[in-house]
Amino acid sequence: SPAPSTPKTSSPSKMKTTIARRGLMLVLSSPSGAGKSTIAGNLLRGDHSLEISVSVTTRAKRPSEIADTHYHFITVPQFERMRDADDLLEWAEVHGNFYGTPREPVEKAMAEGRDMLFDIDWQGALQLQEKMKADVVSIFVLPPTMTELQSRLHRRAEDSEEVIRTRLANSRSEIERWREYDYVIVNDDLDEAFHNVSCIVNAERVRRDRRHGLFEFVSNLLTEEPTL
Ligand code: 5GP
Repeated sequence: SPAPSTPKTSSPSKMKTTIARRGLMLVLSSPSGAGKSTIAGNLLRGDHSLEISVSVTTRAKRPSEIADTHYHFITVPQFERMRDADDLLEWAEVHGNFYGTPREPVEKAMAEGRDMLFDIDWQGALQLQEKMKADVVSIFVLPPTMTELQSRLHRRAEDSEEVIRTRLANSRSEIERWREYDYVIVNDDLDEAFHNVSCIVNAERVRRDRRHGLFEFVSNLLTEEPTL
């Protein structure tokens, strides 16, 4: 059958339709070196409606890191104060250091219907899933092989031999947590892994149960009389 012809006149309103929805909490986890940070970086560059949750950590800053952009670097007493004041939405000890998600920016973003990206470990993912339920979409990134994981850790060359050894040793118990995630991606090829993550984000954004504005949109749609 012939393809339907495109209408000659455009619709009366060329305004982009936006339907109100709740913000999405996108959790990205993986063992160190699986490529999660690269995927997260690409995602943030290409999608300006997504913002990163900047964690607090007690670990030392890596040379390439920028304070308050990659992490808020704090001392153990400062961390304990935040944790005890309930200023952290979740927190965990990872590879011998403390990490946590400051609560306030997340609550603000969610209230305004903005989406946030969390680069956190499985312990943090579990806590967010428990607290925020349906708003959380979790993705686990796996390396194609353990050998590749090891060589990526060495290639990064920002950590000492000892740190690399600890991270490799911990990676197995992290990988074992794959079942707790909504999506699992094998990062064989960075472009493909990134493409898959983008598709997940786009699909999750149009989920019916996330878009509370749909009811009003459809009601208006059905009361409209076509004018052409
Ligand atoms: P790295 O030291 O390589 O930056 O991070 C080590 C691990 O800690 C990574 O798996 C990272 O996702 C996780 N991590 C970073 N920030 C947080 C956080 O705020 N909470 C939790 N639970 N994990 C975090």
